[in-house]
Amino acid sequence: MSWQGIDGHDAIATRLAAAASCGRIGGAYLFIGPPGVGKGMFARTFAKALQCAAAGETLSTCGRCASCLQADAGSHPDIDLVAKPDDKATLPLELLVGDDEHRMRDGLCWRLLLKPSLGSRRVAILLDADHLSVEAANCLLKTLEEPPPGAVLILVGTMLERQLPTIRSRCQIVRFAPLPAPVVAAILRRLSDDGRIPRITDDTLADIATRAAGSIDRAVQLADPALADMRLRVVDLLGRRPLPGVELAREVLAAAEAAGKDAAPRRQRLKLLLESAVDFHRAALRQCVTEESPPDSALARAVSDWAGTPEEASIALRHTLDAIEAVDHNAHLPTLVEAWTTALERPHFSRLF
Ligand SMILES: [Zn+2]
Repeated sequence: MSWQGIDGHDAIATRLAAAASCGRIGGAYLFIGPPGVGKGMFARTFAKALQCAAAGETLSTCGRCASCLQADAGSHPDIDLVAKPDDKATLPLELLVGDDEHRMRDGLCWRLLLKPSLGSRRVAILLDADHLSVEAANCLLKTLEEPPPGAVLILVGTMLERQLPTIRSRCQIVRFAPLPAPVVAAILRRLSDDGRIPRITDDTLADIATRAAGSIDRAVQLADPALADMRLRVVDLLGRRPLPGVELAREVLAAAEAAGKDAAPRRQRLKLLLESAVDFHRAALRQCVTEESPPDSALARAVSDWAGTPEEASIALRHTLDAIEAVDHNAHLPTLVEAWTTALERPHFSRLF
């Protein structure tokens, strides 16, 4: 059983349905969880269920009423959705309160105040809550402090630590866990059968589902054969002593640039390659401490070749996590890759980002 076809989050659906059945839907929710576990999809479906004319106490949707049809088409007049544009580091203020010429006469906060035109309430979804500037968060605070009657605002972010305390304290926090590997495998199988991703053999499927760490986004990327080769190459280079930093920088940057002309796919590709480095450093650290080899054979081979100290592994891991954060903050990619590989070559130097 899965709520509205969304796998893995039935407990959250049950909790929200219980609140709906006694008329206690909150004015503001903060959905928190790792990327690629279905928070955005859940938020859209929750918004659709809040609007469905026939929705009962289970927060189900009929899929046939005018409200459901418009929600599915993304054109529901009472459901608002904003997300950070790919070329911006933060969520632009005008998406919340209108541009300079229309300040407080446009944007998500303003539309939330309007009377609903089709349903009985207005619902707004703000994706990328991790990327709210302080100024934008302050604008949002006014809405959170005095929410319009019946309106529901859903913020979606990845980590509680990345949200301002003022926002956190005004929202009901809903935590999304990584998806269990069998759920990832089942979703991946469906995507493969539907031809939406390359065909996957059963053996590869189980391996990808285990390595995806509960994220469908990650699983889909892992299922890309070209990317899988690049990840193996990164892991192989990281296992060498001394680290071939120049080669690593050149290959990682070339792989990121091969993802397309736009910045967004390049950043996403670079993040995935950096994540494979995180896997490597974590496995290296684990092996130092527990002498436990990772289940992935390529990773196990590279880690056993590496033979560094736990301290080196933990410093390298921190540098790589910093690099991933810098990608999220739109750092200049060639400079970032250069700084990252230099930091890995000299792991005892202080933080470079
Ligand atoms: Zn409906």
